[in-house]
Amino acid sequence: MSDLQRTLKPGMQCITKTDNNNPKSEELAYQKGDLVTIISTCQNRGWFCACHHSTGLEGLIPASALRERPAIKVDSRLSLMPWFHGSISGVQAVQQLQTREEGLFLVRESIRHPGDYVLCVSHHGDVVHYRIHHHESNLSIDLEQKFSNLMDMIEFYTINQGALCTKLMKPKPKQGTKSAEEELSKAGWLLSFQRLTLGKKIGQGEFGDVLEGEYMGQPVAIKNIRCDITANSFLTETATMTKLKHKNLVNLLGVVLHNGLYIVMEFMSKGNLVNYLRSKGRVLVPQQQLIFFSLDVAEGMEYLEEKRLVHRDLAARNILISEQRMAKVSDFGLSQSKLLKKDQSNRLPIKWTAPEALLHNKFSSRSDVWSYGILLWEVYSYGRGPYPRLAVKEVYEKVCNGYRLEAPENCPQIIYSLMRSCWEDDPGKRPSFKKLKEKLGKLIPGDQ
Ligand code: ADP
Ligand code: MG
Repeated sequence: MSDLQRTLKPGMQCITKTDNNNPKSEELAYQKGDLVTIISTCQNRGWFCACHHSTGLEGLIPASALRERPAIKVDSRLSLMPWFHGSISGVQAVQQLQTREEGLFLVRESIRHPGDYVLCVSHHGDVVHYRIHHHESNLSIDLEQKFSNLMDMIEFYTINQGALCTKLMKPKPKQGTKSAEEELSKAGWLLSFQRLTLGKKIGQGEFGDVLEGEYMGQPVAIKNIRCDITANSFLTETATMTKLKHKNLVNLLGVVLHNGLYIVMEFMSKGNLVNYLRSKGRVLVPQQQLIFFSLDVAEGMEYLEEKRLVHRDLAARNILISEQRMAKVSDFGLSQSKLLKKDQSNRLPIKWTAPEALLHNKFSSRSDVWSYGILLWEVYSYGRGPYPRLAVKEVYEKVCNGYRLEAPENCPQIIYSLMRSCWEDDPGKRPSFKKLKEKLGKLIPGDQ
């Protein structure tokens, strides 16, 4: 059995390695590079039932015809809007479109009307310039078709001619950018909007709503980032997520480019850990379960630690709970763009962040360990907010002077000692996640 065959599981996305243009009955038709989702294993050894993302058809496929999706290389040149050239003049735009291919286009910032944009399209050997009016947070060319961002507008005019002289055929990429759409699509991470069913809102993210939904029969959670600039800054982080696979990290299925960016993740039906603990409380959640949650998080974090990835926003609100009550870390990789935005240092989660990170911007796996200690405190106090009687401002000062959270009510001494070890002033004296995992593992009966 090949390695891949062993790891193939229902719900997994794969790319086809070969063509099957003449499928026998029950076989799936596909071409090299197509994206499929495994639906079930098959009695026939080495074969799987899979669903094709573009055709939507189901059929049998041998494992030997499949490969795993490669990770997206983190590359700052990746852009969701490679056709956006910033503030270049009309003359420069014409030069950029000099091949005069029909439908070749770019977007630039209007110099004459600051805040507006200009869409430049090559048509019949000429370049036509359309002013894009920016009015009440809407963008429009003909003042009838309105869009909330440039990406939506370009998507629309690629499919519909509308008021333009021609449909948009081919983007002229700005030099030094790489089309994220192409890279995502090539590597199999671009999902099809047609296969995505959007359901009700289940959460409010900082940059957009989180919806419940379904992708090819699989329950998913969908984060929609509508602002195109923000969506673009999420790309690096999404690329990071394509590299990570662990049972205790919320899994990325892929992204959809429509209405900005949709990030499609596995659905965690029991929501975030804070709400879970608060709503159920001591009566419904036994202490044993708290150790399981803590261990799950430590294992996910150990994996990030091994990969030398720093989370920066580890907190119980960013831990999600699955139907089977597995705890998984979310928002990893996503946190960088959130927390490093200029003049937003005041938005750092002060009560969770290690002193050296707050003071000298020294983030490391060991500063994540500090946050993990706070998370343990949240868990053992059933979802209380840390330092309940202190204002954010006071916390920092007091912690620097040696003050530490007291043990939550009924918290076992051994767990409180673990918390305290996470809050050592010297990051080097704090345990690693590997060590934390070992120690917690010993607290589970019959699991030495
Ligand atoms: P942000 O960090 O941008 O504020 P989150 O990713 O923390 O947004 O999501 C906000 C809320 O949405 C979470 O607290 C959780 O309740 C819900 N949520 C997010 N992702 C999922 C998911 N994969 N499954 C279920 N619920 C989710
Ligand atoms: Mg969050």
